[in-house]
Amino acid sequence: MSDRDHLKNHTPDALRERFAAQGIAPYRADQVVGWLYRQGVEDPSDMTNLDHALREKMSLEWQTRALDVERIDHSGDGTVKAILRASDGSRIEAVLIPEPGRTTLCVSTQVGCAMACTFCATGAMGFVRNLTAAEIVDQICRMRELLEPPGRITNIVFMGMGEPLLNLDAVRTAIGILVHPKAFAFAPRRITVSTVGLVPKIGELLEIAPINLAVSLHATTDSTRDRLVPLNRKFPLEALLNELRSLGDVNARRPVFFEYTLIQGVNDSVEDARRLPRLLRGIPSKLNLIPMNPHPDSPYRPPEAGTIDGFLRVVAGSGLRVTLRRSRGDDIGAACGQLALRRSLSIESGPSSARSAGKME
Ligand code: SF4
Repeated sequence: MSDRDHLKNHTPDALRERFAAQGIAPYRADQVVGWLYRQGVEDPSDMTNLDHALREKMSLEWQTRALDVERIDHSGDGTVKAILRASDGSRIEAVLIPEPGRTTLCVSTQVGCAMACTFCATGAMGFVRNLTAAEIVDQICRMRELLEPPGRITNIVFMGMGEPLLNLDAVRTAIGILVHPKAFAFAPRRITVSTVGLVPKIGELLEIAPINLAVSLHATTDSTRDRLVPLNRKFPLEALLNELRSLGDVNARRPVFFEYTLIQGVNDSVEDARRLPRLLRGIPSKLNLIPMNPHPDSPYRPPEAGTIDGFLRVVAGSGLRVTLRRSRGDDIGAACGQLALRRSLSIESGPSSARSAGKME
């Protein structure tokens, strides 16, 4: 691993300051940002509007690329999952989900995850380390190279491996780069960050930019949520929902996207369906129902189709905005809750019969 600083670990404004501190005109930082994020050029020697001395200095002093593509899997439904390798050999997954009129990229924020949600393959991996901002941003740089022109990434969801709010500093910098007009220039409403409910960090996240908040709910009682999302023992439903109710103007009245993975015999009862709208009262909400994507690390299964339909009917009948999310990329282990680097393990240890089951919009 190199100990050189990484250009993508700094927002464009911070980079201007770094350049100025080194006696380099700040507009040069804007030019570099344009090359990196708008042109997709990472080798300083190709940044042709910089003078020769600056190009050499940058090559010596800065890193510009954090991830390389190790493996790409294409799903029959158009979803693309990539295994990306960092300079220390760590591997993460990112998933592109093309849909009519938009292409969403699901990015990871950690290698593995400490939250140990019992329905999630990433949780079964345990926690390895936080990603740097450069490694978060580079997922966009690498994955957009996989799109056929004129395709482009229109939406970013922080719903891959890891709990984003446990890596908030890097997430803050990455969002700063995503929304900056000289960098990627994403509208904040095109960015969604998901949490399992790290209550003390939610307000801090929403102060970064008017992005969308997604909350992995998955249960209507503490006893069930304790089983599915161990963090619930520390921040139970009442604490989480009260925090969301109190957001008010911080969230600019945008709805909170609640994710609810439907699991057979665990959280799919009619009583659960009736409790859900009552729980979310007072919070502008959109509910996504996601039938469990099975994977080998979990004993859970999705409910029967009739149970899912019945659940949906009861919730929709309450007036709550609800959608049943179609699973994407489950044939390549790219669906919600399935990201576990199983394909990379198969490269090292021979063919794997592992299926996958994911976590994204
Ligand atoms: S659902 Fe999210 S927070 Fe929970 S273990 Fe999986 S990656 Fe971590």
